[in-house]
Amino acid sequence: MRDLATLPKAHLHLHFTGSMDVPTLRDMAARHGIRVPAALVDDDPLRVPADERGWFRFQRLYDAARACVRSEADMRQVVDAAARADAAEGSVRLEMQVDPTSYAPFVGGITPAVEIVLDAAREASAAHGLEVAVVVAASRMRHPLDARTLARLAARYAGEGPGEVVGFGLSNDERHGDTEQFAAAFRIARRAGLAAVPHGGELLGPAHVATVLESLHPDRLGHGVRASEDPAVLADVVERGVALEVCPASNVGLGVYEDVAEVPLRALVDAGATVALGADDPLLFGSRLTAQYEAARTAHGFSDAELADLARASVRASRASDASRASMLARIDEWISQPEEDGAETGEESVTNG
Ligand SMILES: [Zn+2]
Repeated sequence: MRDLATLPKAHLHLHFTGSMDVPTLRDMAARHGIRVPAALVDDDPLRVPADERGWFRFQRLYDAARACVRSEADMRQVVDAAARADAAEGSVRLEMQVDPTSYAPFVGGITPAVEIVLDAAREASAAHGLEVAVVVAASRMRHPLDARTLARLAARYAGEGPGEVVGFGLSNDERHGDTEQFAAAFRIARRAGLAAVPHGGELLGPAHVATVLESLHPDRLGHGVRASEDPAVLADVVERGVALEVCPASNVGLGVYEDVAEVPLRALVDAGATVALGADDPLLFGSRLTAQYEAARTAHGFSDAELADLARASVRASRASDASRASMLARIDEWISQPEEDGAETGEESVTNG
């Protein structure tokens, strides 16, 4: 078995605040004299019985973490730490998702908030040897007009390279807000050449996936795992060529599935869906990118060749330039062409409860 931390891969589902590790958060909280909930810094905040997992616990802890990010320096630290951690795990392309609204009050508005993230992404790309691009995400909890404003802002920075905006997302509680009302924002984003990458089909089932497909015309779906519950919806996902950003630890952490073996990864891949594994929020779900590939190996029996295919899918679903993608794919070919290591780590430490 080959070392999955050296498998080149693209990371397409990682949120800004949620990307932090516990020491970074602890450091930030101390700097601002903020007390954070013990569950957040005592490791594995969602390691609770399955019936206690869920969105509201997650949201409360996420909000507490976000409240610690209150300066330009903090924002730059978040991006740099995420890029460093990703690079150490073989990530060659990170498309990091940020809703600038929460950080805007500390830096003079949403425009400077986006500029800071883009600038930090450019610097982190050079410092850590990977491409860090940005997805600007609106929130379902706010007015759809707010999403339009963000889409127009995102459009100004549209590109494909490090420090550019490559996509437009829609995040937060899937059960909140009327999906159709966000269609205008996604039209603006698509017109600017941005990838449409809304969340859908994690907390809600296939009917929600169908609504998101119909009204937002996504290029990728954040999660989308529950499309597996309706063959017709899953076939539609495949037919439309919509990639799924599957985050096993997140699904388990939010109680969507009791354990990682229940995540329908194999069913999605077998149906022909393009799957890009992601960590979503390592701070809350307790594992990063490589652990998701380890889970595919240990819980779902993916061979090294199949894991390389997952990595290829992640690169193809990214918004990297053709030249970058070709070089990333060549590096994956190189990884799989190396001989297997004897007695290599089997990834026992990977996702268990998430
Ligand atoms: Zn997410």
